[in-house]
Amino acid sequence: MTITSHPAPPSTTALMPVADRPEAMFTRGQGSWLFDSRGRSWLDLVQGWAVNTLGHAPPVITDALALQSRRLLQPGPGLYNDRAAALAERLAALAGLERAFFTSSGAEANEGAIKLARKFGQVHRGGAHQIITFEGAFHGRTLATMSASGKPGFERLFEPKVPGFPKARLNDLASVQALIGPQTVAVMLEPIQGEAGVIEATPAFLQALRALCDAQGLLLILDEVQTGIGRTGTMFAFEHAAVRPDILTLGKGLGGGVPIGALMARDAVCCFEPGDQGGTYSGNPLMCAVALAVLDVVTAPGFLAGVNARSAQLRAGLDALARRIGAPAAEGRGLLLALSLPQDDGATQAASALFRRASASRPGLLVNAVRPRRLRFVPALNVAADELNLALALLDTALAC
Ligand SMILES: *Cc1c(COP(=O)(O)O)cnc(C)c1O
Repeated sequence: MTITSHPAPPSTTALMPVADRPEAMFTRGQGSWLFDSRGRSWLDLVQGWAVNTLGHAPPVITDALALQSRRLLQPGPGLYNDRAAALAERLAALAGLERAFFTSSGAEANEGAIKLARKFGQVHRGGAHQIITFEGAFHGRTLATMSASGKPGFERLFEPKVPGFPKARLNDLASVQALIGPQTVAVMLEPIQGEAGVIEATPAFLQALRALCDAQGLLLILDEVQTGIGRTGTMFAFEHAAVRPDILTLGKGLGGGVPIGALMARDAVCCFEPGDQGGTYSGNPLMCAVALAVLDVVTAPGFLAGVNARSAQLRAGLDALARRIGAPAAEGRGLLLALSLPQDDGATQAASALFRRASASRPGLLVNAVRPRRLRFVPALNVAADELNLALALLDTALAC
């Protein structure tokens, strides 16, 4: 078959085994399609875990990378560069927060948010340093962000944890109030808990948290690493609740597939002094040029309307499927949707079957079993209507039996 026309892929034994991965070796992607070394193809509704805002290898990113790589790769974080300055100005205007610091990942942006809140506590709140976070939360894999996370299974890992992250329950204001004390400086959460399985903080809860933080002099930190940059149908998820955070973190979709994150803050909160925060790759113009190209597309007239149209299509298809198999309606917003399945490991089984379906002659479907019973859908924001129809048809054959 086609195997002979593809060179043997390299061995994987030299890689640290940090995840269970399927045997395929991916070599190429185009839009909503991913291809492996044997020429098999998958329709991709995972997109690098919600990072490829514009799908695989979009020409605007190729062009931005090529152009910027000929101009300036990295002058160093001790010097200004025009791409980082332009990106900061752009994001500040979009988010309504005056200041930005760039990182290479979401975890690093959250680590910076934690540091900024602790500094704020030192400067303005008599040394208060505790940040109330939430059960089920995911903020990253550095030691402090793992400590801030409420992901089941994280408790036992890499002890001792970084102290100072008491856990409240999402959408339960009393559980937050009960944790507030003299050492509290901030409340930190995801507007939609992505890794927990697409669990939404309700607009009413976010509004109540904003009011509570204002009344108590606490900072509201929103982790929009997964929900930001158009993912939920608005530029930021906080727009659905009409609340503005004091500190905002971005990652994933901001780079459209390249590693960049951002820590943003209101001017009045931004108490970092020279020497407090940094990073060798902070604001490197190559990644900033890509983020600017992504923002050009996402802010273009009609783009978010397209995201909302595809969201309505995917949700309607998932809801119809849910009715047929006796599952609850789809949850989430925009193109961050999830479906709960009736069987215990139904999502794991379905994702695996849809993956293994791929052969030289027929495509597979990449979907994420974010929990054993829950499928998460995070297609490219520019996914085509017929691609979603194909995905729904493939899902239907895998689930409705
Ligand atoms: C993915 C994610 C992170 C971590 O981002 P990395 O780039 O993997 O470090 C943090 N918070 C949320 C909400 C995420 O989804």
